[in-house]
Amino acid sequence: MTFGSTIAATNSDLLSPDLGNRLHAFVSELYPICSSITGNGLREILRRIGQRIPLQIHEVPTGTQAFDWIVPREWNIRDAYVQNSRGEKIIDFKSSNLHVMNYSVPVNAKLSLEELKPHLYTLPDRPDWIPYRTSYYRETWGFCLTQRQLDSLPEDEYEVVIDSSLEDGSLTYAECLIQGKSREEILISCHACHPSLCNDNLSGLAVATFLAQVLAGTEPRFSYRFLFIPGTIGSISWLSRNENVVPRIKHGLVLACVGDPGAFSYKKSRRGNTEIDRAFLHLLAASGNPYNVRDFSPYGYDERQYCSPGFNLPVGSLNRTQHGKFPEYHTSADNLSFVTPESLASTLHFCLEVFRLLENNLTYLNLNPKCEPQLGKRGLYRLMGGLPDAGTRELAMLWTLNLSDGNHSLLDIAERSSLHFDVILQATRDLEQAGLLSSQTR
Ligand SMILES: [Zn+2]
Repeated sequence: MTFGSTIAATNSDLLSPDLGNRLHAFVSELYPICSSITGNGLREILRRIGQRIPLQIHEVPTGTQAFDWIVPREWNIRDAYVQNSRGEKIIDFKSSNLHVMNYSVPVNAKLSLEELKPHLYTLPDRPDWIPYRTSYYRETWGFCLTQRQLDSLPEDEYEVVIDSSLEDGSLTYAECLIQGKSREEILISCHACHPSLCNDNLSGLAVATFLAQVLAGTEPRFSYRFLFIPGTIGSISWLSRNENVVPRIKHGLVLACVGDPGAFSYKKSRRGNTEIDRAFLHLLAASGNPYNVRDFSPYGYDERQYCSPGFNLPVGSLNRTQHGKFPEYHTSADNLSFVTPESLASTLHFCLEVFRLLENNLTYLNLNPKCEPQLGKRGLYRLMGGLPDAGTRELAMLWTLNLSDGNHSLLDIAERSSLHFDVILQATRDLEQAGLLSSQTR
């Protein structure tokens, strides 16, 4: 049974028409949680994911060396506000997680407006949006607010409270392994460290969680390893603890910013021509929809670590609108209305299409390689006489027979013939059934 039909047979309820709404509802569920690269907010995000898929949670102690990095102290926050002399909270962490600079150290002080201002961050060009700011590796504190709020602040004595802690603890990450027939793996990685930002990063978490749910009901050829990790330090920590797993990774994908209505944008692996790169390029081109393909660059998400020269893994990255290229990026406008059920669902379907291609991209051997076999006597030629696609199907059989010399995968044949992978796959099945091809697992 093929991967595709297994999904359809066993998990059709998971892919039902309200998939987009269910993905969006999961984004909404995670939205209020104040995540970070460590701490209880991140743990709560992972706990919610773990209610849907089998997760293994890992805790890496503060101070642990991970290649050139050291796992930082754990940050937790309970409350934060700026209060004016009348006792009114004019900036309140409880109304938006973004109001506090992530990793702010504790503060309890009374400050004038002038003293407070160096700790306030706004977006002058977007006066109604709150920026997202972090300070993981420099001990400081800050508040983020709208430019309009800042402009309205009078001279006053302000009480500034950040009830946070920065202490030895651990860094948390989670993995979900869907066991396939083979130990060879497909890695899907997404960061879980941003608070209350929907496209970057809740969309990736939601799509990855649902992908794991769908795949768990199939019997895939590959094993699928999903990583839910804090950005940068999470992938570095995972790689440093899993060098024995790395050789099993045959394909990989970093998922981020996959819920906005923009076209798909695929960033190639550092190698630039790996099977997953080619699978994305083939299916994006065949989709008939607008799309972008970018070459690898050492700037972006965790593909930077997976594709560092010491690993050089075949890991690409899928986004819709690229990070930094939409004005809502890293602001309060990356909210629940910025990501749509349709975009979330179509990202999930597209990822499944890519996985299905990879699952089925085998190499076959023509059992009748001396001249063309006579297709007519096997009922293969003009099988669909009169139908408009009969020509394509016959062409697909001829290409598949000709290139199935043991050296060409089905994707090689699809690329060479300019025919859709699915057409080549169908031709392969027809020819296999007629005894003209045998499969060779690579
Ligand atoms: Zn980000």
